[in-house]
Amino acid sequence: MTDDALTADQISAVKAAVADLMPGIRADLEALTRIPSVSLDAFDQAHVDASAEATAELLRAEGLDVEIVREGGRPAVIGHIDGPEGAPTVMLYAHHDVQPPGAEELWDSKPFEPTERDGRLYGRGAADDKAGIMAHLAALRAHRGNLPVGVTLFVEGEEEIGSESLPTILERHGEKLRADAIVLADSTNWAIGEPALTTTLRGLIRVVVTVTTLDHGVHSGMFGGAVPDAMMPLVRLLASLHDDNGDVAIEGLKSGVASDLDYDEARLREESGLLDGVEVIGTGSLLTRIWNKPTATVIGLDAPSVATSSNTLVPSASAKVSIRLAPDEDPKEAYAAVQRHLEKHTPWGAKVEVRLDDQGPGFAAEANGPVYDQARAAFTDAWGVEPVDIGVGGSIPFVAAFAERFPDAAILVTGVEDPDARAHGANESLHLGEFQRVCEAEALLLARLGAMPR
Ligand SMILES: [Zn+2]
Repeated sequence: MTDDALTADQISAVKAAVADLMPGIRADLEALTRIPSVSLDAFDQAHVDASAEATAELLRAEGLDVEIVREGGRPAVIGHIDGPEGAPTVMLYAHHDVQPPGAEELWDSKPFEPTERDGRLYGRGAADDKAGIMAHLAALRAHRGNLPVGVTLFVEGEEEIGSESLPTILERHGEKLRADAIVLADSTNWAIGEPALTTTLRGLIRVVVTVTTLDHGVHSGMFGGAVPDAMMPLVRLLASLHDDNGDVAIEGLKSGVASDLDYDEARLREESGLLDGVEVIGTGSLLTRIWNKPTATVIGLDAPSVATSSNTLVPSASAKVSIRLAPDEDPKEAYAAVQRHLEKHTPWGAKVEVRLDDQGPGFAAEANGPVYDQARAAFTDAWGVEPVDIGVGGSIPFVAAFAERFPDAAILVTGVEDPDARAHGANESLHLGEFQRVCEAEALLLARLGAMPR
């Protein structure tokens, strides 16, 4: 690891600067959290406009050239400030929209009234991802008047509804976002006191499979026994997606291996709420199973409901299957494999129709090179322990979008969350002690990238 970009005195000076800044950062974070910027259609979008404007104002105050862009979706904020001649440019990403609060009675304090309890700041967006915005601001403020690198901030306004206009924004404003390093602050650390870089995300495809056996529904007593209803082959088809261990049995899907971190069955059971006596499925390390191997989950069925069912041979039935993909899998190839599997495993000549409902690529970082070296050193400076590489079993579509648009940039996926942050749930919160480490790490990263030989 290149370790000498900064002296011990320089490191202490950056940390001291961040410590002085924290009360102001906290106040601005609370102000942002009070804006209920839920991007979902059913909510008042005036608040999303207000959070874009508030974010823009914070950036203008740091001397950035700022514009609010809108390409058919919610407003995104783009700000830029030049660095010293020849210094690299770093693009910092966060999002200013939030998830709906859900039922208010599940919260111990009001979702849009940030409240501190036991060293955590509670509120919708207090972590995801308004703390991401403020971590970027902290890094800028720590170097106020003496920025070591050029910085572009991109604060999206529709991450929580799938970043639909992001491809258009990247197409029309991509040149403004071009950078040598990209920091996407919307993920999580490994544990309190244990920082992490997210180096893999799984991809996703969703398919709808429909099985048909009859021209119309008929009396189950008259024809049952010789005539197959549609549910029989559909259930068998769905059962064929897994082997007896619970591993996905679709031929041709890729599979990877997770980094070697401690994660035992007790923790998995507690975090997931798995009931006593219900077995864990699959093979390989637990992290490999939840980060790097494919999954197939039946998430919906169109068939008569129990309440309205009658003694009829059902002519047609459908299932929606959500399939998570290994981080480096190509969704198109995966879909072809799934289609082949479904067509091949439908029994008794039943008619089968497969439709692709959604797809998104995963992400596998080239987690090495000079930018990663400096990031690992900055995290180690801030926490006193080296960061671990983690995967995330879910998909973050925007990460792949940036990786595709800027293939030469080093992409760092960082985050303000910890395993207790409950992003998207009731009582979302930010661990304030960890948040200061996050701010230090980002300020130190900018200093290190600026000090890199060039
Ligand atoms: Zn987020």
